[in-house]
Amino acid sequence: MRDEQEQRPDHKRSTKSEFDFIDALRQRAGTSGHSLVAGIGDDAAVVRSTAGKETVITADLLVEEIDFRRTTTPPYLLGHKAITVSLSDIAAMGARPLWSMVSIGVPEDVWETDFVERLYDGLLDLASRYGVQLIGGDTSRTNERIVIDSIVSGECGAGMAVMRSGASVGDQVFVTGSLGAAAAGLRLIERGAHLAEQNLADDDSQKLDHILLRQLRPEPRVGWGIVLGEERLATSMIDLSDGLSSDLNRLCAASNVGALVDSALLPVDDRVTELCGRRALDPLQLALHGGEDFELLFTVKPADVARLPRRVDGVEIKRIGEIADSRDGVRVSEGTRIWELKPGGWVHF
Ligand code: ADP
Ligand code: MG
Repeated sequence: MRDEQEQRPDHKRSTKSEFDFIDALRQRAGTSGHSLVAGIGDDAAVVRSTAGKETVITADLLVEEIDFRRTTTPPYLLGHKAITVSLSDIAAMGARPLWSMVSIGVPEDVWETDFVERLYDGLLDLASRYGVQLIGGDTSRTNERIVIDSIVSGECGAGMAVMRSGASVGDQVFVTGSLGAAAAGLRLIERGAHLAEQNLADDDSQKLDHILLRQLRPEPRVGWGIVLGEERLATSMIDLSDGLSSDLNRLCAASNVGALVDSALLPVDDRVTELCGRRALDPLQLALHGGEDFELLFTVKPADVARLPRRVDGVEIKRIGEIADSRDGVRVSEGTRIWELKPGGWVHF
C-alpha cells in the first residue's frame, strides 16, 4: 500500500511495520515450491504453467459484520474460513488447488494486535494441509471493519473442469458429508452459544462444539473435488455455500433441468437432529436452506455410480435424488407429499 502516513503528519506511525509483516509472511509462505518461479516479495508472483492443463481461479470477499463478526470469530478460525471458501470453489470445479493470494484491510487498532498474525496462522495451516502455497496479496488499512479477499487458483486437465451446467435427466444427485450444522451453529452463536473450553467430556457440550465448529471451522472437500474431476465421475457440481435449496436451483438452472430430492435421504447432521429439535430449530429446514456447510453437491450418470469411492479423506457421500425434466422443476418428496423447493438460503442483497 501507499504510505499515506507521510501525507498525514498528524497521524502517528504504527509501531508495527507493514514491511516486517510482509517479510515474515514471505518467510512463512516460502519462496520456492513446485512450479513456483517467484512468490511473495516481487511486484507479482510468477508460476509455471503445465502443458495440457487449465487454470481455475476464484475470489471470495469476507466483510466484517456482513460475513463474520469479530466478537464471535477467533482470528485463527477466520483465516481458516477465508481460504476454505475459496478452496471449496476450486473443489466444486473438480480441480486441484495450488496457489493462494490474500488481501487484507484492517483498522489500525486491529493492526496493533496480533490479529493478522493469528489470521495467517489459520490460513497457512489449512493451505499447507492441501499443498497450497501463499504467493502474494495486499495489505491496507480500513476505517472500521476488517475486509479479507481470498483468491485461490488451481489446475485441472484441459476440458475437465466440472461445470454447473453438465447435469442431464436421469443423473443421480449426491452430496458429500452432512447438512445443516453450519446454519444451526450460526443460529446458536447468535443466541449466545460459544465453544466449551473445559467440560469436553460432557456429551452435550461435545455435540454443541461440533455444531459450532461446522460454522466456525468449515472443511473444504478438496479431496472429493479432485477425485470427482480427475476420474470424470461428476457431470455437474456446485459447492453448498448458500444452502441446498439455492444451490440446487442454481445447478438445475445452469443445466436446464429439474430435480427430485427425497427428504428421507438427506444426510442431516446427527447432532443437529439431536440438539436442535429441543431448541425449536427444524433440522430439515436447516438442511434444505441453511448455508455454509461447504459440502459438494454433484450429479453422476447412473452407469458411473458404481465407480464412486465410498469415502475420500474420511468423508462419505449420500445419494439424495435424481435429475428430472426442467418442466417438473426442483422438488422435494416428503413421505407421500411432493412440493416445490424454492431457493431459501442466504443472499447478500
Ligand atoms: P506493492 O506496492 O507492489 O503492492 P506490497 O508491498 O504491497 O507491494 O507487496 C510486496 C509483496 O508482498 C508482494 O509480493 C505482495 O504480493 C506481497 N504481499 C503484500 N501484502 C500481502 C498479504 N497481506 N498477504 C500476502 N502477501 C502479501
Ligand atoms: Mg501492495
